[in-house]
Amino acid sequence: MPHYSDAIIVGGGPAGASCAIWLARLGLAPLLVEADERLGGLPNDNPFADDWIATLPGVTGQQVGANIARSVEAAGVEVRRGRRAVAVARTDAGFAVTVQKHAHIDTSAGGADGQREQDEPSEQGESGKQAGAAPGATETLYGRHLVIASGVRARNLAGAAPGDRWPGVLVGPGSGIVEQDFTGLSVAVLGGGDNGFENYAYVKGRGARTVHLYARGVRARPQLVDAVPAADLRVGSYRVDPAARQVDGHPYDLLLVLYGWEPQADFAAALELRRDERGYIHTDFATARASAAGVYAIGEVANRMHPCVVTSMADGVVAAKAIQAALER
Ligand SMILES: Cc1cc2nc3c(=O)[nH]c(=O)nc-3n(C[C@H](O)[C@H](O)[C@H](O)COP(=O)(O)OP(=O)(O)OC[C@H]3O[C@@H](n4cnc5c(N)ncnc54)[C@H](O)[C@@H]3O)c2cc1C
Repeated sequence: MPHYSDAIIVGGGPAGASCAIWLARLGLAPLLVEADERLGGLPNDNPFADDWIATLPGVTGQQVGANIARSVEAAGVEVRRGRRAVAVARTDAGFAVTVQKHAHIDTSAGGADGQREQDEPSEQGESGKQAGAAPGATETLYGRHLVIASGVRARNLAGAAPGDRWPGVLVGPGSGIVEQDFTGLSVAVLGGGDNGFENYAYVKGRGARTVHLYARGVRARPQLVDAVPAADLRVGSYRVDPAARQVDGHPYDLLLVLYGWEPQADFAAALELRRDERGYIHTDFATARASAAGVYAIGEVANRMHPCVVTSMADGVVAAKAIQAALER
């Protein structure tokens, strides 16, 4: 019989980290799996002041991400970083999650930052058989409960796979845009939501030569829309050639794709969870339980009314308490 943690949590953003911290605080043994080399999730992409959290005025999203990582470490949570969950199967005692290892710098909870990952011996008994294997190798981790906290990813151009990238084409908001020098460049911003209009204003204010905003339909707040001169706004269908960096045959130095978000929980497809038409996982609001026994979904992957750090962390607490109640039954 392999070693089973009380719960495997997939995703070390605000939701998953909060759940793991609370489970540890309740005396249980969670295992937190994170695809990235850093814990903290999407806040790591936000270099701006996070003014949505009333208790942390002036703190940036990136500081929020770093604080989350520190709190996980302080709680003594067992963490597997640089491991992407790729599949899950139900077992007699719970769940077997297959994770794929990335090449990265790894630090275990309590370890020193920047430590190069070694081919470490298994800490998981049979479940960790292949830990320390080459990047790309898989291992299987076992848990009595499964918590899906894998969040969302920025939607890519129509027809592209989520990870497809082209030079000069930036997908999604955040650090990638902030790190870009726009001085003297011609830029097309694609997307009719708040993100598209906000980033139009951002790029315009960063010295771009021309900025055109393409929106198939306009969903942004009126005050954002009113701030875009009619000459810069193209509403209606358009054609994008990302390799040539052209929109409707017009060449640009940069294309910014701001098409919103989509849930990422493909690894859990075999569980056939109830989802909405966009793929967000349906849960019971009071317990964060998904439609299959022993499975919980928290944070953005469960599509809260206003997805943010606070609602995601609250979800994590709810799932932890529900798991504690289930284990004590
Ligand atoms: C640019 C930007 C600015 C924002 N500003 C704010 C703000 O000011 N205030 C605020 O409250 N919120 C803000 N948000 C929103 C906030 O960051 C999210 O609502 C919150 O991070 C959602 O938390 P989560 O844990 O559900 O998901 P995420 O933060 O997305 O975390 C999910 C984690 O799961 C990991 N993961 C995904 N798939 C797998 C897998 N298969 N295996 C293992 N790991 C996986 C990901 O790597 C990620 O670390 C901002 C977001 C962005 C992008």
